[in-house]
Order: sequence, then C-alpha cells, then structure tokens
Amino acid sequence: MTKCPNCGAELRFSPEKQKMLCDYCASEFTTEELAEADKPITEAAAAPAKSEEQEDREKREFAEATRVYVCNNCGASIISDENTAAAECYYCHNPVTLSGRVSGEFRPARLIPFKLTRPEAEDVFKKFIKKKWFVPASFRSEKQLEKIVGLYTPFWLTDCKTNATVSADAKIIHTHTSGDYTVTNTKVFDCDRAAYMNFEKIPADGSKKLNDDFIDAVEPFDYKELTEFNMNYLAGFMADKYDVPKTDILERIKSRVLGAATEVLKDDIKGFTTVSITHQSVNLIRTDWEYVMLPLWFMTYIYKGKIYEFAVNGQTGKIAGLPPMSGGKFAAALAIIFFVILLIGGFVSGFLGG
Ligand SMILES: [Zn+2]
Ligand SMILES: [Zn+2]
Repeated sequence: MTKCPNCGAELRFSPEKQKMLCDYCASEFTTEELAEADKPITEAAAAPAKSEEQEDREKREFAEATRVYVCNNCGASIISDENTAAAECYYCHNPVTLSGRVSGEFRPARLIPFKLTRPEAEDVFKKFIKKKWFVPASFRSEKQLEKIVGLYTPFWLTDCKTNATVSADAKIIHTHTSGDYTVTNTKVFDCDRAAYMNFEKIPADGSKKLNDDFIDAVEPFDYKELTEFNMNYLAGFMADKYDVPKTDILERIKSRVLGAATEVLKDDIKGFTTVSITHQSVNLIRTDWEYVMLPLWFMTYIYKGKIYEFAVNGQTGKIAGLPPMSGGKFAAALAIIFFVILLIGGFVSGFLGG
C-alpha cells in the first residue's frame, strides 16, 4: 500500500485516470510524481526525526505542565502554564473556567518567542488609532488597552513539492511602414512549461475563529527565529489551541503556491512581444508539516454586538485590524461639513448679490 504524501491516507489506483488517488484529501499522482515525492523537500526533512520515545516524553511533559481554560460563550480554549491563570476569554471577554489539562498533541514543535513587549505593543496600537477619526471613544480608553493579550497562535508551516504547469499564447509582433501602409506581422506560439517546484514554510493559521485575511495581513514572520518549544516561553502568555486540522488547509496552501508557481514559469517564456496565460495548474505531490506557535499581541473590541479583531505581530510590530466606526461621530462630522458648505454658499451668494 502506498501512502498519500500529502496527508498519509492510503492511495488507490484509478483505472479511468490511470493515476493513484487519495480519497481523503483528493490528491492525485502519476507514477512519476510519486517517485519525485519520495525525495525530501528540504535538508531538514532529510535529517532523522526525533525518536518516538522522545516525542512521547515531550508530549507527556507538556500535558502535565499546562492548563486549559474554556470559554462557554464562544468556545475558545486557552492554554497557559500552571502559574498563569486566565480569568477572561481573550476573544469575547466572558469569564472562562478551568477545564483541566491539555492533550500532548497540542505541543508545538517550535515557536517564535515574543520580541515586542506589552508596552511596545500598546504604543503600536495607540499610534494606529490616533489617525482614526470616527472610532467610538471607548475604543481609545485605557480599559480597552487592558484587553490586549500576548497570544501564541497556532500555525501550520508547510513545505511542499508541486508539479506546476502553464500554457500560454505568446506573440511576436513586428511592424514596419511600406509606402502609405503600416504592415503588422504577428506570429503566434503555443507555449507550455512544466516543472517540479519546492516551496518552504508557507504559513496558515490553525484557528477557526481568527479571520484568515486578517492573520495574513500581519505576516511576514522571520522564521530564522523559530526555536525549539520550551515551557518557559509560555510564562505570562496565553496560547490558543488549534482546531483546524492540517489537512483542512491544503486548499489554502494550493491557492497560495499557484500564483507563485505561475509567475516563475511565465518568466521562463522569453523573447516574445506579449505572453498571456491560458491555463495554469499546480498539483501538490508532497507536503511536510510543522506545528508551530507564532507571537501575536491580540485584542478584540466588541461594539454593537460585533467583534472587531486586532493583532500586532509580536516579532515585528506590524498591526492589522479594521476599527469600528462610531455612527454618532460620523454623522456629526458630516453635519459640520454640510454647515461649512452652507456658509461658503451663503458667502458666495452674498458676494455676488453685493
Ligand atoms: Zn491524501
Ligand atoms: Zn469567549
């Protein structure tokens, strides 16, 4: 039995497609692609992994040294070390209850430690809202700033090997003048390019609650600073528990690499006046995963029943989030503008009249 190099499920041969199929993650492979998938993507993947014994011990230690708090209102699970108590849900601000220990499978392999301190994160946030005119007053309050938590966020870091193809209409166009005429000579070529391409460390968050676009907006992280996980990093911080299994992000990974792979292959079609892509596809033929935690200074603001998310990259200080608009303030500003226009109007007509 051959295992799927993307998800580990068993493959079956499809006589119609003449390919090996994975019913679990919908991947398909030619014999050649499977042979290519056998080769490691990175040097790290080629190195021997930790022994099963060591992994089991680390998972057990993690389970014993952590606590998990659960929010009965929004379902958030918060992991902390045994000395850091969580009282309030970082997401919906309702009280949380201690619900025992967390299973060892949630131990990340590595993490990027926080670099930005809490006061520094607060400063980033204060600067960010300074320029926002129409936010509700309570959004700027000190009480709101207290809601910021240092949150280690679960991410799947993916290395993948792809077989990418593009087809393009490429044209060479020559024009010259002959007497009164301009002659245009167009040669059209069908171009195809295909290549195996490796991608490293594509991030995707493992949290259903967090909005994907918003999380993408605080990237990039510098993965050179990934270090082996150690309980000491959790002291004083919270961690979120992943609830998106790794196989659920395959489609997201695929769409992220499709654009990049197409660019590379398109660049290889050289010497033409114009190149337009008519077909592009990417087949994932091997996926290696690493479960990591990345540092975010995270805050939500609840306004008129809606939750607004904000995050500051705990490594670089990059901020993302869409602030709420205060209807009252906006209306007041509009009224002032209207009044000014009326005044100017009055002045102009007065001037003309005089
Ligand atoms: Zn699969
Ligand atoms: Zn909650």
